[in-house]
Parts: sequence; structure tokens; C-alpha cells
Amino acid sequence: MQNDGPCYLTSPEDPHVCARCAGMGPTCCHVTPGNEEFCFPLSRSEWERIVDYRSDEGGFAEEGNSRPFVDTMRRLFPMHDLEIEDMFPPHGSHMRLASDDEGYCAFLTSDGCRLPREVRPWFCLLFPFWVRGRMMTMFTASDCLVCRETRTLEESLALIGVTAKEVRYIFGRLKIAWGLAPETEE
Ligand code: SF4
Ligand code: SF4
Repeated sequence: MQNDGPCYLTSPEDPHVCARCAGMGPTCCHVTPGNEEFCFPLSRSEWERIVDYRSDEGGFAEEGNSRPFVDTMRRLFPMHDLEIEDMFPPHGSHMRLASDDEGYCAFLTSDGCRLPREVRPWFCLLFPFWVRGRMMTMFTASDCLVCRETRTLEESLALIGVTAKEVRYIFGRLKIAWGLAPETEE
């Protein structure tokens, strides 16, 4: 989730697309109340990065490893389903970004994310893109202006001003944060 664009922006075609999105309604920094179990989890290293920066441990929530959550993670990492099962055992829990009663991220302010880009979780930096092996994909998020204003992945990359290589880099860092092997054959 992020509100003012990924940290790896280089030459954005519309540097304001995420700000425009924020002006129109909920962004990827928002979760529909009741759906918190599906928030992307926060790895230990991401949690440490934020805590080191802020010098406090607020802004996080512990979430149970529900079956629907684990199934979602398995779909996102189809080549790592056994590792995902081990990582998120039944009756265990994981960390996520906390959200308020209306579903807004604890780090969101009226001016966007309070965390500098280099401190934000990898998933925040990656959204709305995802990677499956050699194939790059996108989430189909109806609230995402990038998704709404573009028809192809190439158009989306161009609109937000990021290259496929940069997206793969962020995705690779996300996988490393979870101890998952780099993409090769998925
Ligand atoms: S950490 Fe920042 S970018 Fe990520 S969801 Fe929260 S407000 Fe958005
Ligand atoms: S939902 Fe999409 S357009 Fe809106 S802030 Fe997030 S990435 Fe940007």
C-alpha cells in the first residue's frame, strides 16, 4: 500500500497519479474494514526497518494466520506453497500494518505516507504490480487509478513512471525479505 507513488520512480509520465488517486477516494493505503486478514504481511526485516526509523513499535497489528490468508499467499507464490504453509502455520500469527477503524493505514497522513520511501514495506512500493516467474502482472484493483486509466501493463508502467526492471528488483527484495528464492521458473 502506498499513497504517493512507489519509491523507485524515475521519470514518471504522471508523477501525480497516486496523489490524484488519493484525492478521489481510498487508495492502496486502505483496507476495507473486515478484510484486514488479507493485508499483505510484514516481514521481520521490514518491521525492523520501520521501528529503527521511528524509534517506536506503534503502527503494527498482529494478525492470525487464517486459512483464507494462507491460501491467498499460496496463490501469490505458487512455487513456494510448502514454504508458505511453514511460514504461516495454523494457530500462528504474523505482523501487518495496523489500520484504523475506517481501514486507513496507521502510517497514512493527509499528506501521504509518513514513512520515507526507503523505509516503506516492499509491497507498498510494488503495488499495483506483481511478478510470476518471467511474467509481470498487475492486481486488478478497482480503486487504483493506475489500473483504471490504463489498458495494458506497459501503459501502467509508463503512467506511473517505472520500468519492468525496477519492478522486478522490488519484487526480488520482497522475496528476499521472506527468505524465498529469487524468481526463475515460476
Ligand atoms: S506504510 Fe505508507 S505506503 Fe504503505 S500502506 Fe501505509 S501509508 Fe501506505
Ligand atoms: S491505488 Fe494505485 S493509483 Fe492509487 S495510490 Fe495506490 S498505486 Fe497509486
